[in-house]
Amino acid sequence: MADRDGKIWMDGQLVEWRDAKIHVLSHTLHYGCGAFEGVRAYNTVNGTAIFRLEEHTERLFNSAKILRMKIPFTMEQVLQAQCDVIRANKLESGYIRPLTWIGDKKLGVSPKGNTIHLMVAAWSWGAYLGEEGMRRGIRVKISSFTRHHVNITMTQAKAVSNYTNSILANMEATDDGYDEAMLLDASGFVSEGAGENLFVVKDGVVYTPDLSAGALNGITRNTVLHICKDLGLEVVQKRITRDEVYIADEAFFSGTAAEITPIRELDRIELGKGDYVGSRGPITEKIQTAFFDIVNGRNPKYAHWLTLV
Ligand code: PMP
Repeated sequence: MADRDGKIWMDGQLVEWRDAKIHVLSHTLHYGCGAFEGVRAYNTVNGTAIFRLEEHTERLFNSAKILRMKIPFTMEQVLQAQCDVIRANKLESGYIRPLTWIGDKKLGVSPKGNTIHLMVAAWSWGAYLGEEGMRRGIRVKISSFTRHHVNITMTQAKAVSNYTNSILANMEATDDGYDEAMLLDASGFVSEGAGENLFVVKDGVVYTPDLSAGALNGITRNTVLHICKDLGLEVVQKRITRDEVYIADEAFFSGTAAEITPIRELDRIELGKGDYVGSRGPITEKIQTAFFDIVNGRNPKYAHWLTLV
């Protein structure tokens, strides 16, 4: 991935993709204190547009705030940088990755006095959990790894260090032949996927774990809450047990990369009932359709969520 044509925005300038390098003694590389975002641009009916750019950028600044890192750029500069990388790489659609990290000025655990950096890269990225997964649903396993407790590495920061937990969970699940992991919180309640929020549907009501279960406050999760309201679906945020998911009528993951991905199986138990056992459920399909209408610019109500580049 490192040696290719293209441009990356790095500390205020667009540099050649293959020249966007940092030193091995960078603080974040050693201790994992850094923050990032995952943002998508869609080829909408009105042209290329970034979905919920402001919310993602605000979350990046909030993640940095939680980690006591002062991003040396303004919000406007970071918004502009994300538009610039899409244009500079001639992408019609794609995934945008802003990342802020601590520099190589010194290497004690304390980052005080060190420099803070920011880069933004963008590339083409299709369905994260596969096209078939989007249609049929994916197979998921409860992880043996616990999602971070809310008072460990701060679960509302999209912190670099949080992702060791996600990596371990995802590798365990995929090594065991599943598509993705579902993590429980430190009390044993369902929290989220390795990189996705969770929703379940039961008797026409949509449920999602409340954020005290340590899940990231996903921007797609928030989009789903809006969609449910528009569809007249009741949403309840509460503690959810793994066996509530086993007997749910439907379940799906939400995330910028995963978009809306149905879950057809958890721990080898097929989810669903009637003619959609073990496949995408009807409410999930409705929410998925509404989601793709919004991100592709086909729903004028949410035109303000799309920043044309
Ligand atoms: N949880 C985790 C751990 C994630 O990495 C992500 C992806 N950012 C999400 C949830 C979903 O968040 P969003 O919808 O903002 O992408």
